[in-house]
Parts: sequence; C-alpha cells; structure tokens
Amino acid sequence: MIKERHINTNCIQAGYTPKNGEPRIIPIYQSTTYKYDSSEHMGKLFDLEESGYFYTRLQNPTNDAVASKIAALEGGVAAMLTSSGQAANFYAIFNICGAGDHFISTSALYGGTYNLFAVTMKKLGIEVTFVNPDITEEELQKEFKSNTKAVFAESISNPSLVVLDFKKFSTAAHKNGVPLIVDNTFPTPINCHPFEHGADIITHSTTKYMDGHATSVGGAIVDSGNFDWMAYADKFPGLTEPDESYHGITYVKTFGKGAYITKATAQLMRDLGSIPSPHNAFLLNIGLETLFLRMERHCQNALEVARMLESSDKISWINYPSLKGSKYYDLAQKYMPNGTCGVIAFCINGGREAAVKFMDNLKLAAIVTHVADSRTCVLHPASATHRQLSDEQLKDAGIDAGLIRLSVGIEYIDDIIEDIKQALEQV
Ligand SMILES: *Cc1c(COP(=O)(O)O)cnc(C)c1O
Repeated sequence: MIKERHINTNCIQAGYTPKNGEPRIIPIYQSTTYKYDSSEHMGKLFDLEESGYFYTRLQNPTNDAVASKIAALEGGVAAMLTSSGQAANFYAIFNICGAGDHFISTSALYGGTYNLFAVTMKKLGIEVTFVNPDITEEELQKEFKSNTKAVFAESISNPSLVVLDFKKFSTAAHKNGVPLIVDNTFPTPINCHPFEHGADIITHSTTKYMDGHATSVGGAIVDSGNFDWMAYADKFPGLTEPDESYHGITYVKTFGKGAYITKATAQLMRDLGSIPSPHNAFLLNIGLETLFLRMERHCQNALEVARMLESSDKISWINYPSLKGSKYYDLAQKYMPNGTCGVIAFCINGGREAAVKFMDNLKLAAIVTHVADSRTCVLHPASATHRQLSDEQLKDAGIDAGLIRLSVGIEYIDDIIEDIKQALEQV
C-alpha cells in the first residue's frame, strides 16, 4: 500500500499529475465548450453515462483539478468549486432541502450566511432554526422536527470565533438521521479536519485563507462520502429516487459515494450556474500551494498579537481561541491543537467610538471588508458586514457593538505589533 502523503505535500501536488510532456502546472482551460467527433459520444455525456467535459457551466478541467486538490486536503471523496462561499453554502443545503423542509444552524455565523438562511432560504420555503452554539444536548435534541434535513455550523465562526463543539452537533445530527454540514473556512484543512470529528459535508469560502492573497472570490463543497443516504431514503428523495430531469438516474445507486456532489453538479450547477471562472480556479490553486506555510505564520503572529492585546489596559475583552483563558480554548485544543486561524476579536474600552478611533489610526493594518489574507486588516462588524442585523440579532450572533475583528497577516511580527500599539495609544 502506498503511504498517504502529508497534507503539506498535497497542498502542492494533489489534484493534477501531468503526463509525459504535459504542462507542469494545471493549465487554464479558458474554453466554454469541448469538441467531440460523434454525436453519439456527446449524447452519452448528456445522459451521464460517460464522464467527460461538454460545457464549462457543468465541469471544466482547471476547476476539477483544483476541486480534487481540496477534496484531498479535507480527506473527502469528491468536491466541487463554486463562484463564491455564499454559493457553496446555498448549494450545500439546497442539494438536500426543498420547500417545506427545515434545517438547524448555529447562530454564530458569518453575516452573509445568516441572511441567506434567515431571509432568502425562507423565501424558498425552507425554514431554519438558529440555536445558540452553547446549547445543551437535550435542548438541541428538542429542535429536530420530522422535516429536519441537516445541521449546519462553522468550525470557527466568523467573526465571533466560536469553536464548534463537533461532538455535540454531530451526535445530535446523526441520532436524527441527518448530515452535519461544516463551514471550515477559518481554520482551513491545515488546522482542522471536520470529517474526523463527525462532519459529513464541508463547505469553504475559498476567498479567505485558501486564496490567501485577496485576488479571487470563490467557494467549495466537499463530501466525505460517509453519510448513508439510503438508510434515511424517505428523507432524501432527491438522492435516493429517480431524477426525472436526468433520464431517471438515481444518484445514490449510480454514483455511490459520489452521489451528493454529482447531484449538486448535474442539477444545481446546471440550473443555477454559480461556476467559478477557470482563471480564478488557477489563482486559487496557487494560493493552495502555500496554504500550510501561511497558516502556520498567521497563527504564530496572531498568538503574539493576542498576548500583547491581552496585557493592554485599553482592552475590555479579547477572544482568540488559541489564547489560554479564552472561552473556547479547550475546544480549540481538542479539535485544532496546532492552531486556529489568524483572526482575533476584541473590544476596546469606550465601545463604538473608541473602536473607530483605533481603526482610523492604524497605518499598516488596513480597513477592508475582508479577512484572512496575507495583509493585516481590521473591520468593525457592527458598521460593515453585520449592519443589516438588529442589536438583538447581533447579540444572538455573539457580536458586541464595539467588537473589532483583526485579521493578522503574515508580515513581520514586530511591524504588526508596533502599528497596533501606536494606534492604541491614540485612543
Ligand atoms: C466569507 C465567508 C463566507 C462567504 O464567502 P464569500 O466567498 O464571500 O461568498 C461564508 N462563510 C464564512 C465563514 C466566511 O468567512
């Protein structure tokens, strides 16, 4: 048996193995269509009887190579790229939920995901129940209904930095015959392996650390292949009964462990079309090659910054899950012992006004609506990403009105510390 390669090697090598004389790096297949010699061959592709490329909205060789690299990093059986993290989370749920269905999500979520679930999914007739991430097992059990089809959570929530209690949520999901879907954007597969802790499906906003250079918005969905759809066939007819829009194919029977991703491609990508451009997938691939190096430095730098902030008398509280004494320190040690992410949440004494003053005085760290790239940046969620939320909803999502989200980059640590110190002094 061939020894499995280390994840660091897979960051560089997985997904594309050129044959003799072929390009060393995955080429950008900037082509909408693919040419065939016979209409019979083309027909078989359309019937999903043979695999092959025919139209880039469904599949593209550049996109597929990058998707299979991400599948390898997460230890999944199949993956697909989407044009954004939003599309990934939407497809991940919509692939198994329709009008009249229900799912459970933790309330500690990225603002865009919260809106997607609470507003847009509701318009489609899909109901969500938000639960506090600290909910007890007994209380969580009470939230399941006969039409519940999934449980959703972020492994580390953006921006509140709640570390997911995988055991609690995966146990509840599986006891009720539904998959656990985990958005693993913040720790990335370098720091957290959700499939080893009971997650069935993983989503990503590849826009963040995976791209890492703030060049390309993108997303991904990875399937572990572990969830037994047939065991709960009546809950998931879309996977376990014939698809009349695809000549009566039953995804689980025809594609086995590949069923979930094949259905998402054949139905959702076909009909909704949130495909990334091959050029963006190419850029994402370059980001992935150094993901393990960058994550290590992000975490080292963030821990130093967190320790400095913790000792400052200008700070009312700080949350960084790798910092001893943080509320989620124990969960972080359990599920991501090598590090969490480069994002720190903290509150300056003086609330909203002081927060704005601090941010405006930063010189190296930039104010941007982004996190998790190589450059240090800051954001005030209450006036940016989460501004649609009422104070009540903000509180539910674990966000203080004076909360600052600091995304520590990979610049030289002394320069980062120096910048934060001088801005704190102005407050
Ligand atoms: C940014 C983000 C998203 C949304 O991703 P986009 O690529 O911006 O569409 C989803 N989940 C998490 C945890 C995020 O940080």
